[in-house]
Amino acid sequence: MIKVVKFGGSSVANAKQFEKVKNIVNAEVARKFVVTSACGKEGKDDYKVTDLLYIAHTHVKYKVSVDDIFSLIEKKYYSIRDALKLKIDLEREFKKIRDDIAEDNDTDYLVSRGEYLTALMLAEYLDAKFVDAKDIFKFNYDQRINMEKTYEALQKVIDTDKKIVFPGFYGSMPDGKIKVMSRGGSDITGSILANLLNVNLYENWTDVSGILVCDPKIVENPKRIDSITYSELREMSYMGANVLHDEAVFPVKEKDIPINIKNTNEPDNPGTMILASFVDKEDEDIIHAITGITGKKDFSVVTCVKNHMSGAVGFMRKILSVFEKYGISVEFCPSGVDSVDVVVATSKLKKYYYEIVDELKEGLECDEVKVVDGIALVAVVGRRMRNKRSMSGKIFAELGANDINIRIISQGSDEICIIVGVDGENFEKAIRCIYNKFIR
Ligand code: ASP
Repeated sequence: MIKVVKFGGSSVANAKQFEKVKNIVNAEVARKFVVTSACGKEGKDDYKVTDLLYIAHTHVKYKVSVDDIFSLIEKKYYSIRDALKLKIDLEREFKKIRDDIAEDNDTDYLVSRGEYLTALMLAEYLDAKFVDAKDIFKFNYDQRINMEKTYEALQKVIDTDKKIVFPGFYGSMPDGKIKVMSRGGSDITGSILANLLNVNLYENWTDVSGILVCDPKIVENPKRIDSITYSELREMSYMGANVLHDEAVFPVKEKDIPINIKNTNEPDNPGTMILASFVDKEDEDIIHAITGITGKKDFSVVTCVKNHMSGAVGFMRKILSVFEKYGISVEFCPSGVDSVDVVVATSKLKKYYYEIVDELKEGLECDEVKVVDGIALVAVVGRRMRNKRSMSGKIFAELGANDINIRIISQGSDEICIIVGVDGENFEKAIRCIYNKFIR
């Protein structure tokens, strides 16, 4: 058994958290490959180092002193080093960073330093080998990771009896320059490592005990999801639940490596297991059919009305191409005989609102174009909903019983996600009433 274990920012936010990480890593020989994020928030009012580094970059750009920002960052690192009695020469490291950015204020280099320094400290604390991500994670010029080159680089560093600590979130371009992934990218680092090292399990340690059925800000103390498939997780995260970076699923999915979301502050909790599929017992009970309930607010519905539309071949394509032209991704488009609704994020539509309405009205000669804002989408996700009779009926009935009007309905033929569009003000209420009826 061999594992990649990735720790998020809150797991390394202070010396106490470092101690927890050490206990977790040392508890199993299998936990050989460790990936860390940059130190995160200790509490709600604290700062994330990566955020501070982005701010520092802007300060340098506009020639504002970075002293205050750097002293916040330095304080965090020094306090961890001193509490854990580490030898790392952080003064020298910070001086080098300051000198480097004074010469070339490279964003990616600067923001990657959070992970870099955290990994250096963690490696010393764990008596592990530190491996710089820039020497391993090789990007192509198209900004995708080159798996072959990364694999080759990995082979040169893994032959050690020690545990290995990698900083997450960054790698290097073919010209050697540091390149960061998108925010939250350490999850991707862990997933790529898991794939290339063919490990048995990818443990992703965070500050919640797994993925919750719904947002705890909406439902108090929601249940934990024990098991979820990659596809369900994609649906959940696309629709708003964010525990794991969206892109982190693909590398492990390719090799069928399970991901276990675990809580650094509650290591005995089994957390959530993410797999390609599960052998679920046949169960007619709707309660066990729903895996999670999530959703997003602030969508607009653009309704295009045109007589005889349903008979006009290619009309749907023409409508969609208007949105494509302005780079707006379409969520879905329920249609009637003479009308099509296009559901898009309001923030995206806003920018080209007049151009789009004009092209639909004048260009495509729609008889009418109506735009309704303030729509929220609620997604009920569950692999066990497949082939279950009356699933959607029961959900809709519950919404109706709670006086919630359904504006839009969508369900794909794989039947793992039912999406309903409701008025924004009913968003939380809709999630709560589905949860209370079917989960609690
Ligand atoms: N530190 C980076 C961020 O805050 C990457 C990560 O934590 O995964 O986005």
